[in-house]
Amino acid sequence: MCENDILGEYLTETYSVLLINLIKKHLPNIILFPATKIGRDLAPRVAATLETGLTADCIDLKIQDGNLIQTRSVYGGNYLADIICPQTRPQMASIRPNIMEKSEQTDKNQPEIIQFSSDLDPAQLKTKVIEYIETTVSNKKPIDEADIIVSGGRGIGSKENFKIIEDLADVLNASIGASRAAVEAGWISKSCQVGQSGTVVCPNIYIACGISGTTQHLVGMKSSKKIIAINKDPNAPIFEVCDYGIVGDYKVIVPLLKEALEKKLSHI
Ligand SMILES: Cc1cc2nc3c(=O)[nH]c(=O)nc-3n(C[C@H](O)[C@H](O)[C@H](O)COP(=O)(O)OP(=O)(O)OC[C@H]3O[C@@H](n4cnc5c(N)ncnc54)[C@H](O)[C@@H]3O)c2cc1C
Repeated sequence: MCENDILGEYLTETYSVLLINLIKKHLPNIILFPATKIGRDLAPRVAATLETGLTADCIDLKIQDGNLIQTRSVYGGNYLADIICPQTRPQMASIRPNIMEKSEQTDKNQPEIIQFSSDLDPAQLKTKVIEYIETTVSNKKPIDEADIIVSGGRGIGSKENFKIIEDLADVLNASIGASRAAVEAGWISKSCQVGQSGTVVCPNIYIACGISGTTQHLVGMKSSKKIIAINKDPNAPIFEVCDYGIVGDYKVIVPLLKEALEKKLSHI
């Protein structure tokens, strides 16, 4: 734990220098990062400087004969690979948020917190945050923290049509998600992408509209507590993983759902 005003904003430069100095001092055997935006930015810089390996986006970890077995999906999510780093230390991995269940906190698993001070000089920094610019969608909560997500895919058809998804999300106070196809079409921001190359989410309710349910999308949302799918193709694979499936045009179903929920929620 290091408290310093200079660390208020995340900067690769400051955080990596601090972490590298700390690792050189304490020589840990294993370092784990969350595979969040910050973790994905920081971990490779630290690993490269320390000339050690890094397995990104792990979905499972085990220890065997002193080695960290780092499991991640490969080849478009079709295989799982177990990766070890036997020759260099520290062993480093980043882990996808929400992929593992949180264990109960007990007195036994209290971590030891080491306090340290930083002698970073702001004058020597090469990078400075000048301004934050909001993305097109200002989600109520980032999708990896959302309780409810209403998600749209290629079936939504256009950027304008995403308004139908947003209207339902507003009623439910939900965040907006998307498939990669919708993101790549430029209809919605990348920060909304759910899936293998997006964010893994675990909300209480996930409503998938016009999303077919490819492996790469499912890997990012199949742990959701309740999955509701709306798709006009009765054979869409999303219907194999959902708790409730509605076969039909989302342009008809979603406004009806919104209206019914509005009425229901107004009585609560
Ligand atoms: C390495 C790699 C990583 C990837 N990572 C991701 C990822 O992180 N996330 C991700 O989502 N994808 C990812 N993909 C892409 C993935 O393979 C699919 O291409 C993508 O998920 C398809 O998105 P979709 O379901 O929106 O589109 P489609 O598969 O085209 O499905 C559209 C669906 O909409 C339905 N539909 C059409 N019109 C309507 C309507 N009016 N009402 C109701 N339903 C309708 C159709 O029946 C269809 O089922 C990745 C691919 C690769 C190779």
